[in-house]
Amino acid sequence: SSHSALNFGAGPAKLPREVLAEVQTELLSYQDSGMSLMEMSHRGKEYTKINNDAQKAIRELLNVPDNYKVLFMQGGGTGAFAAVALNLMNRTGVADYAVTGTWSSKAAKEAAKYGKVNLVFPKADKPGSIPPESSWTLNPDASYVYYCDNETVDGVEFPFIPTSPHGVPIVSDMSSSIMTKKIDISKFGCIVAGAQKNIGPAGVTVVIIREDLLGNPMKICPTVFDFTVISQQNSVHNTPATFSVYVMEKVLQWIKKNGGLQAMENQSQDKSKLLYEEMENSNNFYSCPIDENCRSRINVPFRVGGPQGNEELEAKFLEEAEKLKMFQLKGHRLVGGIRASLYNAVTRDEVALLVKFMKEFRAQFS
Ligand code: PMP
Repeated sequence: SSHSALNFGAGPAKLPREVLAEVQTELLSYQDSGMSLMEMSHRGKEYTKINNDAQKAIRELLNVPDNYKVLFMQGGGTGAFAAVALNLMNRTGVADYAVTGTWSSKAAKEAAKYGKVNLVFPKADKPGSIPPESSWTLNPDASYVYYCDNETVDGVEFPFIPTSPHGVPIVSDMSSSIMTKKIDISKFGCIVAGAQKNIGPAGVTVVIIREDLLGNPMKICPTVFDFTVISQQNSVHNTPATFSVYVMEKVLQWIKKNGGLQAMENQSQDKSKLLYEEMENSNNFYSCPIDENCRSRINVPFRVGGPQGNEELEAKFLEEAEKLKMFQLKGHRLVGGIRASLYNAVTRDEVALLVKFMKEFRAQFS
């Protein structure tokens, strides 16, 4: 049955079964209203409560200080690339970007449409390392310093939160790492995250922003991307992705019920360790191209059949995996190979099954 599919997709990704089942029971009649939540006004009392409860859950889970706003927007992670620049670059017209992979590279390109972008270290030909912070060239005039906490395509995760000696606000794309570990929000000016990996369906982007950074968008900033307007209107300036926020709220409650961020962090360490250990024990049959200090706990890319990868063997790997109902393991088209994404809803048992398969495959083909 569909219940036994093992989903290692990078996003949209696995959601907790319990949450989907609850959505199913409410789908035709939300709280005995005779209507689906999908059919209700975003200004009605039902959605207003969902909107507020979701904000509250994010505040609780991430311990968000009072001087930060939590916003729900549309446009995905890619929309946020533009929104960050449109809302935050106006102060000086310049921003610093740490490019560690695919998504931060795209973010830097998008921001360059609206102002001057400095790369704080030269872009590596092949992502897989993060230069030590002491070697970064940080510009005192930058409006913000931007980095991607977890590069979903490349499997590069920051082992630290960057700081600016000049007090420049730090902005982070946490699309694939939000709610997978505890973080100190007070170290950030702004965090953006598409929901479709760890916290919900596609369609909603969470923005957490320090209040003093609001109020200075570029004149050309589209209203739907204007953090100040969205904040003033409690994320219902225009019609939000109500169904996505509704499901997200349930996922947030599920995270709370399952031990909060400390539990999510422990689990992600544990799950990724299973995979990295198998690679280490495989005599390079499986190999991860990423420096050990910045290997992602969330998206684990690897090659099969040697460090350069043997494409035939990788195709066979995917084919055999699918026979065991292990899906969405194909690496991103830009990097090839295999990628296992281990978001919060993916259980340790499921990862253990993947590792068991990897051992058997290795025994057969190495
Ligand atoms: N940032 C990161 C870290 C991502 O993983 C993704 C999507 N996979 C994006 C941004 C882009 O998100 P979207 O597809 O919602 O525009």
